Amino acid sequence: MLKDTLLYLAQNQRMRDFVVQNPATRGVSRRFVAGETLEDAVQAVRILNQKGNPVALDFLGENVFQESEAREATQNYTAALNLIKQTGIDANISIKLTALGLDISQDLCEENLCSILDLAREYGIFVCIDMEASNYTEQTVAMALKAREQYEQVGTVIQSYLYRSKADIEKLIEHNVRVRIVKGAYKEPPSVAYQNKKDVDESYIEIMKMLLSRGNFPAIASHDENIINGARTYVRDHGISPASFEFQMLYGIRRDLQERLVSEGYNVRVYVPYGSQWYPYLMRRMAERPANLIFVVSNSMRG
Ligand code: FAD
Repeated sequence: MLKDTLLYLAQNQRMRDFVVQNPATRGVSRRFVAGETLEDAVQAVRILNQKGNPVALDFLGENVFQESEAREATQNYTAALNLIKQTGIDANISIKLTALGLDISQDLCEENLCSILDLAREYGIFVCIDMEASNYTEQTVAMALKAREQYEQVGTVIQSYLYRSKADIEKLIEHNVRVRIVKGAYKEPPSVAYQNKKDVDESYIEIMKMLLSRGNFPAIASHDENIINGARTYVRDHGISPASFEFQMLYGIRRDLQERLVSEGYNVRVYVPYGSQWYPYLMRRMAERPANLIFVVSNSMRG
């Protein structure tokens, strides 16, 4: 119930304005967001790199409806690629197709995607296309498959809560597309997605095993210790090298677990979001764990 309310509020403009303009919530958002500028993000990346974590940089923003905004987002992603190249930090990037103009036109979105991938290819930096709400899944999978024909360093994300995901995974594996498997962060109806944790977790484990056995350097993205232990047992029992996949976790979440896995010799990439459009991202993190709401509210009241 609270989860549904938070996911609903993630799309609410008035709530967004209220939260974003409040200096206290802005400060508290720093627990989950590296900062508002690319320079803030690079500072966070350096610290993580020193701890042995490579990073996925995420310039926050989604659902733009003006061509100029889509071009601006594209420039922000390419600025991130340029800075990664210049500074030599150990990072790749994650992007969202709705930030590149998917709601405006598929052609515009593809053009922007290709300009990012051209630069990424020149620099040898991997680009992951994040997965958004289910009304974009078909287009996202199709665009990832199409882009993979031209670019080696592109991958995407599959959400285990969707019924369609096993079929999508088969196609992506067949075309050697790198995949990050996640549970899924949006509010989806029973017509398209499992509604209870047990089903979502079972689907996750099934897909995770497919990827670990047959995928191209998959990313197991979760903070769920049962899932992580399941992955560790599976690779051990099947003689799969820890070098052939990576765990991924979100910035500021389960830092203890991130460190433990690094000390055990696993690759652990941290997803570092930055930018001024942090509101929907923060709301999704609160929906995943209502204790985060208590953290945000209590710290905001302290000013
Ligand atoms: P859960 O069952 O939700 O949580 C298991 C345990 O992890 C919890 O008990 C708690 O201890 C801890 N935990 C989980 N979430 C939080 C939190 N917010 N704060 C504190 N503790 C927490 N979703 C998409 O839909 N599309 C994407 O492209 C996408 N990319 C992602 C990239 C990365 C690197 C990660 C880690 C997640 C991504 N997600 C994405 C979000 C994902 O779908 C889940 O919503 C999120 O990871 C929570 O699920 P979980 O696997 O951690 O398991």
